[in-house]
Amino acid sequence: MPTVYFVIPCYNEEEVLPETIKRLNLKLQTLIESGKATDDSRMLFVDDGSKDKTWSIITEHSNENKFVGGIKLAHNRGHQNALLSGLMTAKENGCDCAISLDADLQDDINVIDQFIDKYLEGCEVVYGVRNSRKKDTFFKRTTAQGYYKFMKFLGVDIVYNHADYRLMGSKALDALSEYKEVNLFLRGIVPLIGYRCDYVYYERNERFAGESKYPLKKMIKFAIDGITSFSVKPLKIISNIGILICILSVIGFIYALISFFTGNAIAGWASTICSIWFLGGLQMLCIGIVGTYVGKIYNEVKARPRYRIEEKIIKK
Ligand code: UDP
Ligand code: MG
Repeated sequence: MPTVYFVIPCYNEEEVLPETIKRLNLKLQTLIESGKATDDSRMLFVDDGSKDKTWSIITEHSNENKFVGGIKLAHNRGHQNALLSGLMTAKENGCDCAISLDADLQDDINVIDQFIDKYLEGCEVVYGVRNSRKKDTFFKRTTAQGYYKFMKFLGVDIVYNHADYRLMGSKALDALSEYKEVNLFLRGIVPLIGYRCDYVYYERNERFAGESKYPLKKMIKFAIDGITSFSVKPLKIISNIGILICILSVIGFIYALISFFTGNAIAGWASTICSIWFLGGLQMLCIGIVGTYVGKIYNEVKARPRYRIEEKIIKK
C-alpha cells in the first residue's frame, strides 16, 4: 500500500479552500478505507504567498485534522514553483507517490483511484489528460490546442491536453529534484525523466468558486516560458528568416539593376520606406527573441533559490 500525498498549490484561494479540503479529505478517507493508501497519507497545501486568509484556513484545518498539512512560501513564486516546493516536501516526508492538483478542483478527483492503480502496476508517472475541452471558452480552447501543436512543431515533448494533474512516484520525484532550472516548466521536464508512464483520461469541470489566478498576462508569460525553456528553434527560425531576406534582397538587387539599365527606374519612395519599417521591426523582434534567451541564461547563472518555505505543518 502506498503513502499518497496530494499536493495543492494555493494562491488567494480562500473562496474554494474550505470546500476543497472537505472534498479531498473525503477522497483520502475512502482511499485509506479501501486499502489504496496508508494512514500516513496527507494532503499538502502550499500557500504561495497569498494575501487573503488562505494560510489561516490551512492552519485551522490542520489543527483539527491530522491529514491536512501545509507549507507557507515567503513570497508569491507562481504556480510552478509552488508545486515544486510541495512535491519536494512530500518527497522529504517519505511519500511513495504524490498527486498534484489545483485548489479549484477543476480536475476530476474521482480518477485518483485510477492514478494509484497505474502506480501499483509499476508506472512512475501518470498523466491526467483532458478528453475534451467543451467547457472551455472558444478562445482558451483554440489558443491552448494551438499551443500544444506549436510546441510539438518546435520539438518539445509535452503531453497533449495535460496540465499539472499527475501522479509521480518517489523515484520520479528524486529524478525531478535533479533538474535545477530556475525557469520552471514542469510539463516539459516530467517527460524528460523517462521512467514508465501512463495516461488517465478525465473531464475537466469549471471552477466552483473564486476566479482564475491565471489572467491572460500570466498565461502568455507561461506559454513563452514553456517554449524558450525547452527549445532553441526560435533562434534557428531567426537565422533562417535572415537567410531568406538575404536571398530576396539579391533578387531585388538584380531587379533594380535590370530596371536601371532598361531605363525604367522610378524613385520608389513607398517601397523603400516599407522595407525599412519592415526590416526595422523584424530586427527588433529578433533581438527581442535573442534577448529572451540571454535573460534566461542570466537567471539560470544566478541560480537563486526557487522558493523559500517560511512555515511548515505536517503532523505525524
Ligand atoms: N496558483 C499558485 N500561484 C500563482 C497562481 C496560481 O499557486 O501565482 C495556483 C492556484 O491557486 C490554483 C492553480 O495554481 O490552485 C491553478 O490556477 P487557476 O485555477 O487559477 O488557473 P486556471 O485553471 O484558470 O488555468
Ligand atoms: Mg483552475
